[in-house]
Amino acid sequence: MKTPPYISVVAPCLNEEKVLAEFLRRVVAACEAEGKPFEIIIIDDGSTDGTWGIISSHAAADARVRGIRLARNFGHQAALTAGLRASRGDFVLLIDADLQDPPELLSEMLGTATSGEADIVYGQRRSREGVSALMNLCYKMFYRVLSWLSGCEIPRDAGDFRLVRRRVVDCINEMPEQQRFLRGMFGWTGFKQVPFLYDRKAREAGTPAYTWGKLFALAADGIMSFSIKPLRLATALAGFLAVAGLLVTVWLVLGYTYFDNPPQGWTSLMVVVLFVSALQLVVLGVIGEYIGRIFVEQKRRPHYIVAASTDEAV
Ligand code: UDP
Ligand code: MG
Repeated sequence: MKTPPYISVVAPCLNEEKVLAEFLRRVVAACEAEGKPFEIIIIDDGSTDGTWGIISSHAAADARVRGIRLARNFGHQAALTAGLRASRGDFVLLIDADLQDPPELLSEMLGTATSGEADIVYGQRRSREGVSALMNLCYKMFYRVLSWLSGCEIPRDAGDFRLVRRRVVDCINEMPEQQRFLRGMFGWTGFKQVPFLYDRKAREAGTPAYTWGKLFALAADGIMSFSIKPLRLATALAGFLAVAGLLVTVWLVLGYTYFDNPPQGWTSLMVVVLFVSALQLVVLGVIGEYIGRIFVEQKRRPHYIVAASTDEAV
């Protein structure tokens, strides 16, 4: 491509053969409506269906479509990272390929970014279709806990759907950490973020690739890579136990001396032993999580491995 694109669309996909062609059609239409040069980068995050076939045939037919195939499933955040690195546009739109975030919003988001001089326009969910009430509650709680724990501004009720300026993308590309929680990293840069309210659709087809397990891992990544507050849990618990211990001691001594009520029963003893050892194990678990993260981080492995790219064929 000779002229550098103005807009780069980055979309990771894992087994999205059912929606990908429709997604590409709508993204191309949305980008063409802007009348500026653009590129669409689809990252195949280790799909086992016909996703890569669809990507390569579209890339062969349209030079504006580029495909990157990762060697295995490296996860949504790693796939987005691959897309951000490959992108060249002045503005980069991060969007899921499952059509939950409407590509048609591009024009309004670009308008918001350029008129308000914002560096990041992030999609904020007004509603979530097709998400169970329990899941919704978990999402809400997670964002609240996260913003309380981490010092930096991580927008609530926002996913990775966003439009970002080149200078922000360059900053993110320089960040070497392995455990990537992109929406937090965007917030950390401190560039101006502006919300863009929209209704998140239910999936068109296929099943959500984010299972409870993956969502939980993402939440843990979000919290542990942005805050060391959980480590202070031990100090807080120690304070709490010290006060509780003191009160119980006073109660026992008074009972023994004045009310002829000697301490009795192994029930109370068992409760104390089990409760305190549980607390100790929780703290140990938290410390273990951080040590595990240091272990993974210090290997400094690449975030993903590219197995194929349609750029090579061009
Ligand atoms: N995805 C991916 N790798 C993964 C999981 C998901 O590339 O390991 C893609 C998926 O194809 C979709 C986007 O990331 O385009 C968001 O995934 P999903 O729809 O499962 O997440 P949700 O919409 O539930 O947040
Ligand atoms: Mg989805």
